[in-house]
Amino acid sequence: MQRTLSIIKPDAVSRNLGGAILKMIQDSGLRIVAMKMIHLSKAQAEGFYHVHKARPFFADLTTFMSSGPVVVAILEGEDAIVKYRTLMGATNPANAEEGTIRKLYALDIEKNSVHGSDAPETAAFETAYFFSGLEIVG
Ligand code: ADP
Ligand code: MG
Repeated sequence: MQRTLSIIKPDAVSRNLGGAILKMIQDSGLRIVAMKMIHLSKAQAEGFYHVHKARPFFADLTTFMSSGPVVVAILEGEDAIVKYRTLMGATNPANAEEGTIRKLYALDIEKNSVHGSDAPETAAFETAYFFSGLEIVG
């Protein structure tokens, strides 16, 4: 069993796509073991994306991620990290496979509807960034 962090980003929450995306997650067999809706501050978004702070898109990305509510969840399952990344599709929706969340819903390379951890180390940091052990109920 493995855990990964999922975020339904502001572009999707604002278009009322939270339920549709959570259904895709659950239909894939991944289990939601923690979840909440929050509105990140700019500083909280910067902390979450600190690995990208040298990137040219960092300022825009953290402004976008703090522009409205997000739904953060911990997903659990066998190979949850790769499984969820596959369900999400490529970062740029123009390159995303048919049937993926980003192919269906992403607006562009920035407003791409979902986040998923990319490795066990980042999953550990990212799940702890949003949830205490007491909030994980799976
Ligand atoms: P992923 O979310 O697929 O793991 P990255 O970790 O590379 O992608 O980037 C984090 C987020 O930063 C992306 O999901 C997207 O919102 C944004 N982003 C990535 N690349 C670009 C870019 N070239 N221009 C604008 N925003 C970008
Ligand atoms: Mg990433």
